[in-house]
Amino acid sequence: MAYDLKITGGTIVDGTGKPGFVGDLGIKDGRVVALGRADGTATATIEAADQVVAPGFVDVHTHYDAQVLWDRMLSISPWHGVTTTVIGNCGFGVAPTRAAHRKLILQTLEKVEGMSLEALQAGLGESWPFETFPQYLDTVEKRGVAINVAALFGHTPLRMYVMGEASTERAATADEIAVMKKLMREAMDAGAIGFGTSKSITHNGYAGKPVPSRQATVEEMHALVSVMGDIKRGLMQVTIGREFSTKEMAEVSRKYQVPVTWTALLSYMYGPGGHRKQLELAAQQRQSGALVIPQVSCRPLNFEFTFAEPFIFDVQKIMHELAVEDAKSPGARRRAYADPAWRKRFTAELTPVFQRWWDRTVIAWAPSARELEERPLAEAARKMGKDPVDLALDLALASDLQARFRMAVLNFDEAQVSDLITDPNTIIALSDAGAHASQLCDACYATYLLGHWVREKKTFTLEQAVHHLTQRPAEMFGITDRGVLAEGRPADAVVFDPKTVGPGPLKRVYDLPAGADRLVSEAHGITAVIVNGQVIRRDGKDAVASDAKLPGRLLRHGRAP
Ligand SMILES: [Zn+2]
Repeated sequence: MAYDLKITGGTIVDGTGKPGFVGDLGIKDGRVVALGRADGTATATIEAADQVVAPGFVDVHTHYDAQVLWDRMLSISPWHGVTTTVIGNCGFGVAPTRAAHRKLILQTLEKVEGMSLEALQAGLGESWPFETFPQYLDTVEKRGVAINVAALFGHTPLRMYVMGEASTERAATADEIAVMKKLMREAMDAGAIGFGTSKSITHNGYAGKPVPSRQATVEEMHALVSVMGDIKRGLMQVTIGREFSTKEMAEVSRKYQVPVTWTALLSYMYGPGGHRKQLELAAQQRQSGALVIPQVSCRPLNFEFTFAEPFIFDVQKIMHELAVEDAKSPGARRRAYADPAWRKRFTAELTPVFQRWWDRTVIAWAPSARELEERPLAEAARKMGKDPVDLALDLALASDLQARFRMAVLNFDEAQVSDLITDPNTIIALSDAGAHASQLCDACYATYLLGHWVREKKTFTLEQAVHHLTQRPAEMFGITDRGVLAEGRPADAVVFDPKTVGPGPLKRVYDLPAGADRLVSEAHGITAVIVNGQVIRRDGKDAVASDAKLPGRLLRHGRAP
């Protein structure tokens, strides 16, 4: 046979942004060996008329560091066409970790990434088969995985490893920084593609303490990034904070010639219209010789809340007053929520950003009306002939205020999001796959980009969108053998129907270890997903057994050895 697999008659969109063309893709021994015409015989053939054949998608912002140890399929990313993921983002991870710190590391993940502690403990078990970062990489490689994985070295486990619990409390000494540098070099030599860290004031770990990376000084950051400067490889990923803003990022980028990417630039984060200033800044920094790339998201950022603790509304005067009153005389919340006059005031007194909040709210969990779950609040209210605020508060009261709602709080203004995702100095990412699993699911961002922003809004051509999902993130992250379809390259591909591709509605399932729940989205229109020449998904179902030999590779130094 000339080919192990060929995909015939599809529109080949190769990831570079060049116009697509109708042709065949021939694959042999895990590599693309024909592109355009593949006339020879093949062991298996996928007919792809009216379908698009693209490189597998590259998701550079995931948190599968723990999940990869119990879920070799890395669900749900491949469902949506992702064939390469980057782990270790925001400086979180599970290695290096001493046995004595395992629980603290998992509790940190629980707090900052919204992972279930029970699921983490059940998934990882009592004895971990690794302590150091190189051992962790060996473990991932040996266990095998359905899609490719590249890893950032995480600042939080690194600091905890070197400084113990003091890592959450103070700056490192010169000796400690020297040890960290040595471990950083060891991680890069073992195949890390860069270094992840967080200075975000929202990142508090176990016992409410700041995550270790937040206690790092700018000098410590420089010391660690200098390791990548010395070996002329690797990138820095930062969750931004005041003490390490884009100014400090530009300095390290220029000084060590290391690209820096930061999370997250979302619309409304810097006030209405504030995103434009950030985009101008990114352009200026680029001109000044720094490579500082904000990560943006093509999806609204959602948060879940209950009316028992409606933290989303804390900044609203009326809600704040109610919290104060409820603390003084318990039950005040319930009485207000039931009072038609209070309900009227609640709607009338909202600040501009919160007006019509119900239009971007979904009923996430409603024990008194399960049939409404995962339905948009406004739509459900319309069908019932009710006011949406009345419906929300009625569901809250019927559930002892435990009913959960999910609201888009940032990145919902589509004109602004369009500015962000089409800017030449940003990168579309932020799936956060594997994290916040019971709260949100953006692991489907790739099919959302293709369905919403290409087909519905026509903000991108198909070729541009595929480029944003493949070559652009791969190049930025130094993943050198993925992201384009070309002869001789590893055969990672996704076949999809451009007329139907998109994410399905979110669905709550209970399939994590210890029965923990998460939100998932099935993909529409994804016909086949191929990793290193092997079909792993076909028509929305796994095409390989999770206990079989799996085709994903650990991309040490950004490529398969
Ligand atoms: Zn993250």
